[in-house]
Amino acid sequence: MRLRLPKDRPGRISAKLLVWCSIATIAGFSAVCGSMMFDMRRGEQALALRSMENLATTIDSDISRNVELYDLSLRNVASNMIEPELAGVSKRLLNLILFDHAATAKHYGAIQVFDAAGNLIHDSATYDPKPENRADEDYFTVHRDNPNAGLFIGRPGLHRGAYAIALSRRITGKDGAFLGVVAGSLRFSYFHDLFERLSLAPDDIISVIRRDGVVIMRTPFDLDVIGRDLSQRAGVKRILSESSGSLEASGAVDQIERLFVWRDSSHPLVVIVGKSWTDIFAIWRRQALRVGGIMLALIAFVAGATMMLAREIKRRGRAEDKLAELAITDALTGLRNRRKFDQVIEQEWLRAQRRQEPLALLMIDADHFKTYNDMFGHQAGDQVLVRIATSIAGAVERAGDCAARYGGEEFAVLLPGLSADAAFAIGESIRTNVEMLSADKWATTVSVGVASVVPNESLQPAHLIEAADKALYEAKSRGRNQSVATPRGHLSRVA
Ligand code: GH3
Ligand code: MG
Ligand code: MG
Repeated sequence: MRLRLPKDRPGRISAKLLVWCSIATIAGFSAVCGSMMFDMRRGEQALALRSMENLATTIDSDISRNVELYDLSLRNVASNMIEPELAGVSKRLLNLILFDHAATAKHYGAIQVFDAAGNLIHDSATYDPKPENRADEDYFTVHRDNPNAGLFIGRPGLHRGAYAIALSRRITGKDGAFLGVVAGSLRFSYFHDLFERLSLAPDDIISVIRRDGVVIMRTPFDLDVIGRDLSQRAGVKRILSESSGSLEASGAVDQIERLFVWRDSSHPLVVIVGKSWTDIFAIWRRQALRVGGIMLALIAFVAGATMMLAREIKRRGRAEDKLAELAITDALTGLRNRRKFDQVIEQEWLRAQRRQEPLALLMIDADHFKTYNDMFGHQAGDQVLVRIATSIAGAVERAGDCAARYGGEEFAVLLPGLSADAAFAIGESIRTNVEMLSADKWATTVSVGVASVVPNESLQPAHLIEAADKALYEAKSRGRNQSVATPRGHLSRVA
């Protein structure tokens, strides 16, 4: 007979609890790790943004300074050209007056002065310039058509054999009349020098664009891009409309996803610095891979250890259950043993007393069992005891009932809530069943003593046992193979 045991005993660590604890630990660690990596990623982005802003500012101020310096020379020419005293001065002296030494710096082209018709009249590089006409050039027409063009920066192109951008200013007479244009050039070598001094990653981009979206200079250097009008691109539109900022976009040329930062000082050029996300997150990615790898290994270890422990806990739990079951089971019959019966009768006694319900007890004893043993041997006797136990277990099916081997060939059945009559009926069914099971020449029979009582303060469980025992004795003395119930009220007299 299988005994019912509580599944999870108090104080025992359940395998399920362990698995849930491990899952919670892994989830907690992963969350902490994830948020740390996320913070680090944000930090890397902020750092990249700051260093790009600094780079853009540095480049911007360098270009501003050079353009301003050169512009000073152009302004000087434009203002001197309208001085009437210059009329009679020799060409050599005129060159000295008009062109200062700033204009001879490494990356600056020669400064040339054109009259109102676009004819070259002065050249800082020579006293005797060859006749040429530049009336069609944009750096000339813009000043002819607009008195307030200020410093004009032309499209990049070839100027005297070198790639450069033209810078020009209007020469305006005292009466406001257009007298011509003074033009110079800033060579690309200036930008190459500037960009080479910076330490840039291979995917970094620095672009210098004009206010109208025309690319003036770019690194990596690409002649196809330089001079191109990007004003229609959404990103460039935003860059031209805001004085400074950052945006995420794919490159106009190589489609690499980048973070762009731009600086726009007062001069007509905008500096844009772009860095690919791959470069921005290169260090972070390495760290994330390392930490992620360590985390995965830890998770695998914790999961593996948890599985092993959970299996071990289950195995031990089963072994403990088995031991606990053995400790309360009678080895021969599978019924509960005497120790368990003593515990149960105490508990049920108190419960019945609390609820003021009857508690019934059957004491069952094999008849003439000594004789049976003597005739057929101890082992055959054991078989009979097992048969009797099977009959008892078959008749006692309620959860609260307790059928136990009380000792030797004697059994006790505790029936909570049953009156003496109801218990008597069960006793009879056991007795007849045993009789039927061994209906041969040497039939084994049992005698049953029945007692039932509603416990009160003046009674003890021992009184119930004693009453059932007395009824059993009565059944024996009346000729055995019968059930006898303690007469009503007898128990109180016992007490
Ligand atoms: P009564 O009808 O008066 O009960 O007679 P009885 O012979 O059954 O009573 P008695 O108390 O004289 O004998 C009990 C016998 O039960 C003694 C013993 O040989 C036998 N017995 C006790 N425990 C076991 C057991 O575990 N196995 C076997 N085979 N016999 C047992
Ligand atoms: Mg006996
Ligand atoms: Mg007996």
